[in-house]
Amino acid sequence: MSELQQLHAHTIKLGLSTDTDTMGQIIKFCSASKNGDLEYALKVFDGIPNPDVFLYNILMKGFWRMASRPRDAIVLYLRMLHDAITPNSFTFPCVIRACCVDSAVREGRQVHAQVLKFGFGEDVVSSNNLIHMYVNFLSLEEARRVFDKMPSRSVVSCTTMITGYARSGFVDEALEVFESIPEKSSVLWNSMVAAFVQTGHFHGAFALFERMLDEKVVLDKFIAATVLSACAGSGALGLGKWIHFYIQSNEIELDPKLASAIIDMYCKCGCLEKALEIFNGLPSKGLSAWNSMIGGLAVHGKGDAAVKLFMEMEKEKVAPDHITFLNVLTACAHSGLIEEANNYFEHMMDFYGIKPRIEHFGCMVDLFGRAGMINEAMEIIEGMPMTPDASVLGALLGACRVHGKVELGERIGMEAIDLDPSNSGRYVLLANLYASAGKWQDVAEVRKLMNDREVEKIPGFSAIELDGNISKFVAGDRNHPESELIYAKVDAVLESIRKVGYEPDINEVLHDLSGEDIETPLCYHSEKLAIGFGLLKSKPGETIRIYKNLRICRDCHCAAKLISEVFSREIIMRDRSRFHHFRSGECSCKDSW
Ligand code: ZN
Ligand code: ZN
Repeated sequence: MSELQQLHAHTIKLGLSTDTDTMGQIIKFCSASKNGDLEYALKVFDGIPNPDVFLYNILMKGFWRMASRPRDAIVLYLRMLHDAITPNSFTFPCVIRACCVDSAVREGRQVHAQVLKFGFGEDVVSSNNLIHMYVNFLSLEEARRVFDKMPSRSVVSCTTMITGYARSGFVDEALEVFESIPEKSSVLWNSMVAAFVQTGHFHGAFALFERMLDEKVVLDKFIAATVLSACAGSGALGLGKWIHFYIQSNEIELDPKLASAIIDMYCKCGCLEKALEIFNGLPSKGLSAWNSMIGGLAVHGKGDAAVKLFMEMEKEKVAPDHITFLNVLTACAHSGLIEEANNYFEHMMDFYGIKPRIEHFGCMVDLFGRAGMINEAMEIIEGMPMTPDASVLGALLGACRVHGKVELGERIGMEAIDLDPSNSGRYVLLANLYASAGKWQDVAEVRKLMNDREVEKIPGFSAIELDGNISKFVAGDRNHPESELIYAKVDAVLESIRKVGYEPDINEVLHDLSGEDIETPLCYHSEKLAIGFGLLKSKPGETIRIYKNLRICRDCHCAAKLISEVFSREIIMRDRSRFHHFRSGECSCKDSW
């Protein structure tokens, strides 16, 4: 800047202080260079009698991009209109972006009108920016209108549209946009696979990936990471392994994102050992790799190991973020490490200056609740700077059920339902609380409330992957081609564990409001069908891995423990919140989940 100021003095001496070209260069430096000074630029700008559209553009871009002062960019645009300067095609992308980051919805629409008025309705860059803006405002219809009016669809506009639809859960609309492009680039493929993953349509993601391979699209590190996250989300270990092998044999660059995607996949598919092996083998470990590994240990109930790994991370001077602490606290909660959790909760704020978010408070409530320290859990809730959401209350409610605090639970349960009336899980928790206290009338009332409000139950299913094929079971379903065999196997399995003391937990059936169909006998719950199928199809001694989308029920948990003993099989079941490793009649969760 000091050199620039000297040059500026020279130009003034030479009588060029109102020369647009010269002043333009000075403003450009001040507003676009890393060492620039926007205030200085503005002062020079104010001294020019008739600034032209280029100068306006440069300065607006400076405000928006360099100084993150989008509002000033919008004001500058207004001044430009007052001065009767006609905008050109470089003006609008910048103003639209400014409206977008400033969440200026009304101004954004006005600028859109101006784009049309000044004849830039067909300008590709302006249109792309408008689509991006409307997607950000969650105005998908308006985004689509701009998209449909474009004379030709670019990759940028398509991926923006696809991502926008996916974010709001409209996967069919995203697919329609994807299919409308004849020449698909790898960026476009990736955005569509990601859209399937984001909306939880893992099978769609896999089908698209297969099509991609058929069409000989090169598998790059971005697509690999996206497909790995689909494997992690659905427990598809076989495909995950294949992609890992592909990455190794094709020497795809293992950047921090891809490395943590691989670790995450192995953790979520139940292969903790393999995840650790890869983690330890990384030449340099980024924050995301540490986070994935600590989080993996946490959901597998290895609290001590997770805490130890965190200490190692601190020793290596890797600065943790809020996700790291969420994982550490989860680890403590799942393993009952109360003192450690308290320390880390303080440490996070005092030492690292990370403000706890609602998830961190939820974790602490969960921790105290599990330990039966209801008062401490209440204290956390009362001390929260924000209003507790349904998931925080849900954690406390679960604790009230386990520890028989019916009255408090009732109050919390009602509050949680009011906060999130469409979430079936909250009703289930309250009903379970009543059931555990034998208040059957109240159970019926909750069920009625749920029906009256037409709360959609999430249908429960269990999935098992064998030889790369995923088989999905819902309670009592007979759609599987080999269902005769599977049901016979389940009957035989239950018969043999009955000999070692298995007794169906009838209580659970009576008040089971969860996704499993209450009309179906307990013995044909989806978990049991999946285990039966696993025993039928795998080799003796092979580990059975099952993914269940809801919480595993008490009876299936009990049966799985006994099966692991009687059949000498390790069963690894992932439910919606954690992993259960069943081995020799015991479960890693120590029966609290
Ligand atoms: Zn069950
Ligand atoms: Zn368990």
